[in-house]
Amino acid sequence: MTYVVTESCIRCKYTDCVDVCPTDAFREGPNFLVIAPDECIDCTLCVAECPVDAIYAEDDVPADQRDFILLNAELAGQWEPIVEKKPGLPDADDWAGRKDKRGELRRCEDARPSRSTAGLAAAPGRQSGNLDAATNSGSQPPEESSP
Ligand code: SF4
Ligand code: SF4
Repeated sequence: MTYVVTESCIRCKYTDCVDVCPTDAFREGPNFLVIAPDECIDCTLCVAECPVDAIYAEDDVPADQRDFILLNAELAGQWEPIVEKKPGLPDADDWAGRKDKRGELRRCEDARPSRSTAGLAAAPGRQSGNLDAATNSGSQPPEESSP
């Protein structure tokens, strides 16, 4: 088994989880973290550290988040390890309570949110249109924050 970072982490990336991981299993993208499944030892320490409850045991990932199991594995092979806590994203608090954030996920620093994650697009109960939104450049602020 492994532990899995899910949607709530997108655009928050508080990184509290990183400090407690004994195997340095976290990998960092521009606005999301994932767990490398082959390095996670299921110690559970990171779960309680996450302020937005983004981390689940693989077997307990909610039905509408199960695409993140494959996404963690995929992106862990592309992103670099992060081993120390760093400041969260500047507008992390504005995004922390939002639910539909898949379209905000950025795979690399200079890219728009990815459309190629089949698992995301196929997520039960989710709108793939989020990934296709022409205006969704990754910098669109939440409604409650300033433009
Ligand atoms: S603590 Fe939670 S929100 Fe912060 S980086 Fe880890 S998984 Fe993401
Ligand atoms: S469960 Fe333990 S080993 Fe796995 S990512 Fe979390 S802190 Fe690291």
